[in-house]
Amino acid sequence: MGAASGGLAASGGVLGAAGALAASPGIVVGAVRQREAAGGGAEAARVAGEPEVERERLLAALGRAGAEVRRTRERVAGELGEAEAEIFDAHAMLLEDPELRSAAFDRIDDGAEAGAAWAAAVGEAETAWSALADPYLRARAADLAALRAQVVTALRTAAAGPTATAGAAGPAAVAGAGADAEGLVLVAEDLTPGEAVGLAGVVGVVLAAGAPTSHGVILLRSRGIPAVVAAGGGVLSLPDGTPIAFDGTTGELVVDPSPGVRARFVGERDSAAARASSAASRASLGAVTRDGVRIEVGANLGSVADARAAAANGADLAGLVRTEFLFLDRETAPDVDEQTAAYRALAEALGGRRLTLRTLDVGGDKPLRYAPVPPTANPFLSVRGLRFSLVRPDLFRAQLTAIVRVAVETPVTVLFPMVSTVDELRAARAALDDVLRAEQASPAGLRVGAMIEVPAAALKASALAPFVDVFSIGTNDLTQYTLAAARGDGGVAALGDPWDPGVLRLVDSVCRGASDRVTVSVCGEFAGDPGAASVLIGLGVRELSVAPARVPEVKQAVRELTAATATTTASAALAAPTASEARATALG
Ligand code: PEP
Ligand code: MG
Repeated sequence: MGAASGGLAASGGVLGAAGALAASPGIVVGAVRQREAAGGGAEAARVAGEPEVERERLLAALGRAGAEVRRTRERVAGELGEAEAEIFDAHAMLLEDPELRSAAFDRIDDGAEAGAAWAAAVGEAETAWSALADPYLRARAADLAALRAQVVTALRTAAAGPTATAGAAGPAAVAGAGADAEGLVLVAEDLTPGEAVGLAGVVGVVLAAGAPTSHGVILLRSRGIPAVVAAGGGVLSLPDGTPIAFDGTTGELVVDPSPGVRARFVGERDSAAARASSAASRASLGAVTRDGVRIEVGANLGSVADARAAAANGADLAGLVRTEFLFLDRETAPDVDEQTAAYRALAEALGGRRLTLRTLDVGGDKPLRYAPVPPTANPFLSVRGLRFSLVRPDLFRAQLTAIVRVAVETPVTVLFPMVSTVDELRAARAALDDVLRAEQASPAGLRVGAMIEVPAAALKASALAPFVDVFSIGTNDLTQYTLAAARGDGGVAALGDPWDPGVLRLVDSVCRGASDRVTVSVCGEFAGDPGAASVLIGLGVRELSVAPARVPEVKQAVRELTAATATTTASAALAAPTASEARATALG
């Protein structure tokens, strides 16, 4: 998702101008429904009982919250896939965290009521996490906030009697609030993952705070619920029923739209729906431009459920498998056999389509308990991606062995993440050659790719090209490194826009540096952005890899293009002075 920043316009003059960030695509016209945040403070706490009684109450509430989290996890795994479900594993672990529990028990021993004790203990941890330099860990403070609220709600619910139903992981139902024909738009400060999963009866979500990369928002995207975030506190004072319209792709948000503006949004929404249904009916056909250029449209996967969704949505291949899903949140690394079985399961779900297996992309930003890297002030600029694999040859070799064993059975591309130099790529290829020799294998369909995510690599593409068959441009990281705007940092989210002409010029450099033999692919979120296909194809990209659900529409966008016109569009976008002008060039 691009971090497009639109304005908050109020034709009724209710609110001043503020930014809203695009967070989940889709056009929405509806009526405001405010949702009070789930109780997270201790203001409704009852008077504290004896410490033993309060400890028992807290333990019972933690148990109920844990059971709720596990139920939600199962539902999410079935409906959205393992990658999304793992968000709830982290929640279950935090509920059992001994340090958090003992901080709450200490407060109970000092005379605090169970809810107040839990809220204070978790609140303290939230404050500490919010101050961390690492934006990924900082964003996880939101997970703590969700659990603070959930346990306090579980305590209050118990006090209210057995018939009450509430809880942050339960459905945030907003139906029956006087929806007009257009549907309800949930407006809230922020949204927990549990709430995002349970959301029912709404056509879209507007968050006063939040970031496009928060877990709650990731789940909204997976569920196809349009959203904008960081709209500012003003939206929280809009009365229920206020007409509101927004575009989750551009971030444009209009409160109380005039009849003309409303008609524009309705028209765009309806034509987008018509396009989506026509694209779905042609999903299994190839994506060929009107002047005959074939573009492979792949899917990005993080689980077997994703692989099934990719096949069902007509993906031509898996353009990116984030193999981290096998390595994170466990005590030991998966061995060769476990990895081989997992990659084989993906291949089976894909029914013979090419499988692009990216080697482990972890490091300071996604730490592994069994392979820690020294703490660093700048984890994104430290030992991550291929750098990590090169300092852990044991883990690297095991993964390459599993990949080679699967490559003997099915077409595989092995993809090295975050390549910065020719020497790194040489070392990675040497490790692969060693494994091929040891396995006495020479799989006919094996291809080798480098992810281009570092500006230096984009500028040196011609020097890297002799070592690969594919360049796969990771625009998520390429954008953060080019604009010096960390991913997941809400404060600079608007800067990190892949439409920035600086990023587009680097994509151009990769396409010019790739020899005819090297396919250029884009697998960052930008590949699924409306309008991006024309610029990328115009620059020379021949493969796009997107979330499984986006495949049909991206294929359709390709069919509506001519490669010749795309070249003109691309030149105009490269020459544009700003991200919004580049985007406007492509969207016409
Ligand atoms: C990217 O950086 O664009 C990419 C596809 O990799 P990831 O999002 O997994 O870092
Ligand atoms: Mg990346």
